[in-house]
Amino acid sequence: EAGRTSAALATADSVALLVAGIVVLQAVLTFSAKASAAVLGQSMLASAREFVVDAILRLPLSRVETASSGDLVTRVTRDVSTMSNSVRWALPQAIVAGTSVVLTLAAMIANSLILALPSLVLLALSLIQVRRYSQRAPNGYLTEGGTYSRINTHLTETVEGARTVEALGLAGQRRQVGDDDIEVSAQAERYGMTLRNLLFLVMDMAFSLPRALVLLLGAVGYAQGWASIGEITTAILYTEALWAPFETLVHTVDEVQVGIASTTRLLGIATVPPDRQEGRDEPTDRTMVGTDLRYAYRADHDVLHGIDLSLEPGERLAIVGPSGSGKSTLGRLLAGIHGPRTGAVTVGGVELVRLPLDQLRAEVALVTQEHHVFIGTVRDNIVLAREDASDEQVEAALRAVGAWDWVGRLPDGLDAKIGSGSQDLTPGQAQQVALARLILADPHTIVLDEATSLIDPHTARHLEGSMNALLSERTVVAIAHRLHTAHDADRIAVVIDGRVVELGSHAELVALDGEYAALWRAWTT
Ligand code: ADP
Repeated sequence: EAGRTSAALATADSVALLVAGIVVLQAVLTFSAKASAAVLGQSMLASAREFVVDAILRLPLSRVETASSGDLVTRVTRDVSTMSNSVRWALPQAIVAGTSVVLTLAAMIANSLILALPSLVLLALSLIQVRRYSQRAPNGYLTEGGTYSRINTHLTETVEGARTVEALGLAGQRRQVGDDDIEVSAQAERYGMTLRNLLFLVMDMAFSLPRALVLLLGAVGYAQGWASIGEITTAILYTEALWAPFETLVHTVDEVQVGIASTTRLLGIATVPPDRQEGRDEPTDRTMVGTDLRYAYRADHDVLHGIDLSLEPGERLAIVGPSGSGKSTLGRLLAGIHGPRTGAVTVGGVELVRLPLDQLRAEVALVTQEHHVFIGTVRDNIVLAREDASDEQVEAALRAVGAWDWVGRLPDGLDAKIGSGSQDLTPGQAQQVALARLILADPHTIVLDEATSLIDPHTARHLEGSMNALLSERTVVAIAHRLHTAHDADRIAVVIDGRVVELGSHAELVALDGEYAALWRAWTT
């Protein structure tokens, strides 16, 4: 008797030890799994962000300009984190839950095939609903993502244009735009929510029903003698046990879907074909030649119709013509921002669009009155153009554009933080920083587009010296939206409806008594 008791105690002890061991092992495994999942997740998040930023940086310039910044921001932030979330948590959970479901089902069948039937049938039925859901959900989620992009786009627009909004009293209108965006977004969310609710309704039924059915079947089986109390209890416990992993499985499948939608949006950026292919040819000299240049913003609507133009190194060419005639477009082609639809712009015999971007910027740069000050120090803002530049070179560039006066007076000098949120620069100062950047990049050809006059006349006069420092000794193409720039140029190209109709010096064109002479007379009288 005593022997049996101690043997039973020994068994109980070893079972307890085993259980304790398993619990400890589970804790260790869970901990290391979570730790490595977190590490994996963070590094994935980091590389995904890098991938996206990289992909955006490689996007054709023309494409970035047309994409809204809100859309790109949404992709870099929301889409990257949903994607990495779904890989980090949803995917592993789906695998664990899927395995549990399969093993539980196997155990149920081993216990009693008949008692497993209700669960099997209802699971199969709910799978049909899951399938329906997963066919519709991706589009729903893509739409949702799109609506977030819209919200962000309009929000950034409102913030960036805050002054205009205030000046023109557009606050109400902007708020309306925001409300509309949210309404559209809410509709998209509601659609997704309805899909989910339907899914979970069916799932709930799939779980409550089997319990009742197993109990019923078990009662009949017990009465007829083909099911024991043990089998019935086991079957019910398994039915219960199936619930949690199956729900997790469906739930994570849902998250994986969201992840796939986000991944699609991310990969979408990478699939935009590049608009230029770098070659290895080195330009032999500084002569720029454009031949048979045509360009269309929309298919079949050329805005340039076969322009031929060559630039002598060091010359000043002014491009004049009525507004909308294609001057800015021509300037962007000459600066290599867009590749032409037909023909080519070459420098020293090499097409601009076959030059690596950093080399292209050392050949020709487009200067507009839109400029950007990046958040960072004055030095950071200027060495953007050439990373290996020394402080002396940066200072020389700032002196050349006449900016050293005020930069030298900043408390931290070159280390002073500028950009939004720090030291605010006047438009004139910001323009000087942009010009200093160009002095450092040192392109031999400058395309100057004075398209919109963002700068007040006083600042403009002040900047003239800075501008002259940049332009001296370089080939300059000046897109003149006001005619007086043309007068002093070596040659003038008159562009009308996407064609160069006259080309020559001021005196020649006045003598020719054509379009330019007419423009000139209208301007001077
Ligand atoms: P200009 O500089 O002489 O005023 P542009 O080169 O800006 O002329 O414009 C030439 C034509 O191309 C115009 O008809 C204009 O509407 C069109 N255009 C300019 N930019 C775009 C754009 N981003 N998308 C579509 N059409 C454009």
